[in-house]
Amino acid sequence: MIVFDLTCPQGHRSEAWFASSAAFAEQKKRGLVACPHCGSAEMEKAPMAPAVPAKGNARRDVPPTQPMSNAIPPALRQAMAALAKAQAAALQESTWVGERFAEESRAMHYGERDAATIHGQATPDEAAALVEEGIAVVPLPFPVAPPDELN
Ligand SMILES: [Zn+2]
Repeated sequence: MIVFDLTCPQGHRSEAWFASSAAFAEQKKRGLVACPHCGSAEMEKAPMAPAVPAKGNARRDVPPTQPMSNAIPPALRQAMAALAKAQAAALQESTWVGERFAEESRAMHYGERDAATIHGQATPDEAAALVEEGIAVVPLPFPVAPPDELN
């Protein structure tokens, strides 16, 4: 069964049930569909507001906006969480040297201090210079707050 909103030439609206769209057309052709208000048999299917937007109104074609968290595939979210966890674990064995990162890295590379795992801040230029000197530095996948900025 389908419910149709019907209008007559006088603008009366009524609602009627039909077995199908074809059944409505058939009954209308046989004059069996009449306006309950004025008896007119010139009934037409009225546009139904939610299903048939006004001409030129394309807004219903725009998909609803989704929150960003839902837009990230679950597999990627899991991978990112695992990576964040791996970074946190790695940094437990590492010493924060802050802005002295480039200096400390060089000192270790050239044997001026004991080798240790350190992490800190470096400008992109500093990082590029270290790599050019053959010093193994890797950017951390996630930003790290300096310890004195925690709490
Ligand atoms: Zn009518």
